[in-house]
Amino acid sequence: MTSLSIFPDPAWIFSFNSPFYLPVVRVCFFVYFPLSFDSFTFIPSILPSLLHFITKLASKNLIFLAFQFTFLVHKKRTLLMAKTKPGKKDLDSYTIKGTNKVVRPGDCVLMRPLDSDKPPYVARVEKIDSDHRNNVKFRVRWYYRPEESIGGRRQFHGAKELFLSDHYDVQSAHTIEGKCVVHTFKNYTKLENVGAEDYFCRFEYKAATGGFTPDRVAVYCKCEMPYNPDDLMVQCEGCKDWFHPSCMDMTIDEAKRLDQFLCSDCTSEVDAKRSLNTFPVSPSLEVEPKRRRR
Ligand SMILES: [Zn+2]
Ligand SMILES: [Zn+2]
Repeated sequence: MTSLSIFPDPAWIFSFNSPFYLPVVRVCFFVYFPLSFDSFTFIPSILPSLLHFITKLASKNLIFLAFQFTFLVHKKRTLLMAKTKPGKKDLDSYTIKGTNKVVRPGDCVLMRPLDSDKPPYVARVEKIDSDHRNNVKFRVRWYYRPEESIGGRRQFHGAKELFLSDHYDVQSAHTIEGKCVVHTFKNYTKLENVGAEDYFCRFEYKAATGGFTPDRVAVYCKCEMPYNPDDLMVQCEGCKDWFHPSCMDMTIDEAKRLDQFLCSDCTSEVDAKRSLNTFPVSPSLEVEPKRRRR
C-alpha cells in the first residue's frame, strides 16, 4: 500500500520544476547568504525558520537582492543543463553489427532506408556517442544523390556521384549496414576499378535552397557540358579539349579504335593552314593515324 501524506515530497518542493522553487530560493538567500550557493542540502534542516524569514522579505531592498540571486541561480542551472546529459559519453569507434567493420568519426557509412527497394543512404559520421543504456547514436551529415536534389539528376551527374549536404541528423547505430568511400572527383577519375562502395563528391549542396558549391564548373566538348566520369571522352590533339564521341558523330567503338583525335574545328584549321602553305596537288589529304586518350 502506498502511503499518502498531506505534505508534498520535499525533494519535489525544492526541485527546479516546483512552483515553490522561486520563493524557496529567495528565502534560502537570507538564510544562507554567507555560506555556499552551491549546496541546497541544508534546506530541510532549516524548514522551521523559513516562515520567519519570509516575513522579512517584506522589505523592498531585500526583495530586490533576492530577485537578483534567483536570476543568478537560474542562469547557472541553465548552463549546467546544457553541459551535462546524464550518462552520455563519446565513442572513438563503433563496430558494425554482424561485421568486423569499424566506423570512426570522419568515415562514410551506408544506412538502411525505410523502403528496402531504395539504395542505401550515404552519410559522413561526425560524432559517435552512447547513452546510459548503451544505445549508440551517430551524428551524421547526409550525402544527397542527384535524384534527391531539388534540381534532380542531370546529364553530367555520374552514377556514383553524391553531394555533401548541409543536412545533419542523429541516427541509431542499428541503421548502419556498411562502410563506403566517397572520393574526391580527381581521385575517382584515377580509380582503376570502381567498386560498389566507391562514390565521389565534387559539390556541396544546400538542402534548403538546392544551391551548389562551387556553383560553376568547367565545361567540355561542343555540347559545353561538365565532365561526367561515366562517359567516355576523347581528347583533341590540337585544342586539348575533350569531346563526347556522339557529339563528334562517332560511335563509342569508333572512338576507342582511334589512335589520335582531332576535333572538327582543329581539322578544319589544319586544312586551312595546309591550303595556305601548300599547293594541293591532290584533293584528298591523307588523314593522320589517330590515337585515343582519356
Ligand atoms: Zn558533347
Ligand atoms: Zn580540337
